[in-house]
Amino acid sequence: MIQTDNLITFAEKLKNSGVTLVAVSKTHPISKIKEIYDLGIRDFGENKAQELRDKQPELPADIRWHFIGHLQRNKVKYITPFVHLIHAVDSYKLLKEINKEAVKINRVIDCLLQVFIADEETKFGLSNDEVRELLQHPNLNELQNIRICGLMGMATNTEDQEKVRAEFRGLKQFFDELKSTFFNGQDHFKVLSMGMTSDYEIAIEEGSTMVRLGTLIFGERHYQ
Ligand SMILES: *Cc1c(COP(=O)(O)O)cnc(C)c1O
Repeated sequence: MIQTDNLITFAEKLKNSGVTLVAVSKTHPISKIKEIYDLGIRDFGENKAQELRDKQPELPADIRWHFIGHLQRNKVKYITPFVHLIHAVDSYKLLKEINKEAVKINRVIDCLLQVFIADEETKFGLSNDEVRELLQHPNLNELQNIRICGLMGMATNTEDQEKVRAEFRGLKQFFDELKSTFFNGQDHFKVLSMGMTSDYEIAIEEGSTMVRLGTLIFGERHYQ
């Protein structure tokens, strides 16, 4: 876990290199989040819709809340009124539901598509072909209240750094491909969310623009 003084410098350094730090606050209490907020951090990430819905009103309104978990369609409405970025969209149906809720409150909601890059069965996400398919969905243009701003991916949980590096590199390549094909000239397609506590340094070297750090900022999580 990083020391308070160092966190400020660390956050500055990331910012200066064009990388957004999302402090992943899941399972941590309001008081702890407020401490990190008071150091100047404004981007926080949660992975449970109810937990986020309950925490948001208890904390300052200028926090940019990132939803980083698997989002169930029936829970989209809990977070649409305030969420800043939804990182893990993995189906057209989910995108459509987010759009529906966004229309109701007259917001445009920024989303990332989660791409499956790990060599594990437990992680969610789309294959590259499924992403291409989603982007060619005949009705995608009707979803005027969502904006696809980039990709998110999680590497395999392994000690093998070269494997992790190869996975991140592949995601960056795919991101560049999409940018020049489907999103040519669209400046909002610019977020590549990759890197957690164990692998964020490699992720940044491979082109990440957004790292999601929990343990490094808050220490170990204690699940109830
Ligand atoms: C919990 C979580 C993180 C943060 O993990 P740490 O290893 O604690 O940094 C990042 N991304 C996602 C999607 C998570 O669920």
